Amino acid sequence: MTTYASILAVGSELLCGQISNGNAAWLSSKLFAIGIDTKQHVTVDDIEGEITAAITAMTKDVDLLLITGGLGPTSDDLTRNGVAAWAGLPLQFHQASWDRIEQIFQRLGAPAGDSNRQQCYFPQGATVLVNEAGTANGFMIQAHGKEVWVLPGPPKEVEAIWLTHARQALTARTPAADRKVQRKWRTIGKGESQLAELVSPLFVGHQDLEIAYRVHAPYVELKLRFPAHTAARYQAVCSQIEQVLRPWLFESDEFNTPEALVERLIHFASVDIYDGVTQGHLSELLAPHLRNVGKEPRPITLMTSWEGHEDPVGFVEQALTFQMDTEVALAIAGLNAQGGWAVGLRLGEQRFIEERASFYRGDTQRPRNLKAIASLAAKAWFDLLTSELN
Ligand code: ATP
Ligand code: MG
Repeated sequence: MTTYASILAVGSELLCGQISNGNAAWLSSKLFAIGIDTKQHVTVDDIEGEITAAITAMTKDVDLLLITGGLGPTSDDLTRNGVAAWAGLPLQFHQASWDRIEQIFQRLGAPAGDSNRQQCYFPQGATVLVNEAGTANGFMIQAHGKEVWVLPGPPKEVEAIWLTHARQALTARTPAADRKVQRKWRTIGKGESQLAELVSPLFVGHQDLEIAYRVHAPYVELKLRFPAHTAARYQAVCSQIEQVLRPWLFESDEFNTPEALVERLIHFASVDIYDGVTQGHLSELLAPHLRNVGKEPRPITLMTSWEGHEDPVGFVEQALTFQMDTEVALAIAGLNAQGGWAVGLRLGEQRFIEERASFYRGDTQRPRNLKAIASLAAKAWFDLLTSELN
């Protein structure tokens, strides 16, 4: 049984477009990670009646509601009033919250203002959630068989209350077996619909599988979610997917092409990499993994040039044989008038060179194309090394 929550954001700044509802996205990702799915994101103005109406409407569908914003000390902060009205409970002064505010102000060397007293009223019976990152404490209230968590607006404070109070309590609501497991595959070189045609036969007859595709240029991602208690059953499906996608697989939960490539390369005594086309995108891809290797001196030298190549294959050929005393040389060059490029590898005396057509039509110099070339090259090199060394 999936546990659902909804998230209500309160604030006129959100509705006039001054800020975007980052809190809802952040909270949803945190809820997702502990097995709670979000049903709705709703935003309302700082108007008490509208806050109450939203809570009433949203709690029809879910048992758990999270609210952010409108707990401040000013007259436009009315969330607590809206929640109390929904719960049918009076607001009560909470002395410990006031003591805390006075202490905070004392430390700052200023007296606490009367307006801060407003932040110390909570619906009767609410559990007050101490805010380690600000003056506005949050609260949790149960009413009408529903549970409502009320958090301040500033993202740092949302995070603080999540960490100190909400995460643990909400994790306890979802039995481990009901939590969702997510598996992810990031591919390159196949379109979304082609990818779907390849893998969809594997999903036949699996009702509790949630399937999602996402295009994130130059990659297409496939995501599967299933309840943790079915994980053993879906292990086979996941292995089949991995198998079917292998020719286009760039990254998965266990595998990352640039990382795997660097791992292969560091075992050679000397490696030269010539990048005559991606204008830094290849370095960006490899750098984090080179840093992680930690081996000094590293056998890998990465050279980047910025000139275009009318004859990519010719340039790659030259680059690979430029220094024959290195054990391995890798090279990419481009782009010719059609956006074509070339990728090559020399392993000792053996040479492999491949000409490739433009990945994106019409925008060959754009970063997304150069990034695609860097990723495709990393994949080609990894695949070549894997087949040659095995
Ligand atoms: P404060 O005591 O600062 O007034 P508050 O609990 O009353 O806190 P709001 O007044 O609603 O919260 O918002 C304070 C600030 O927090 C906003 O100006 C904005 O920068 C940020 N904020 C509020 N709501 C959101 C949201 N949904 N997503 C991202 N940021 C938000
Ligand atoms: Mg405010």
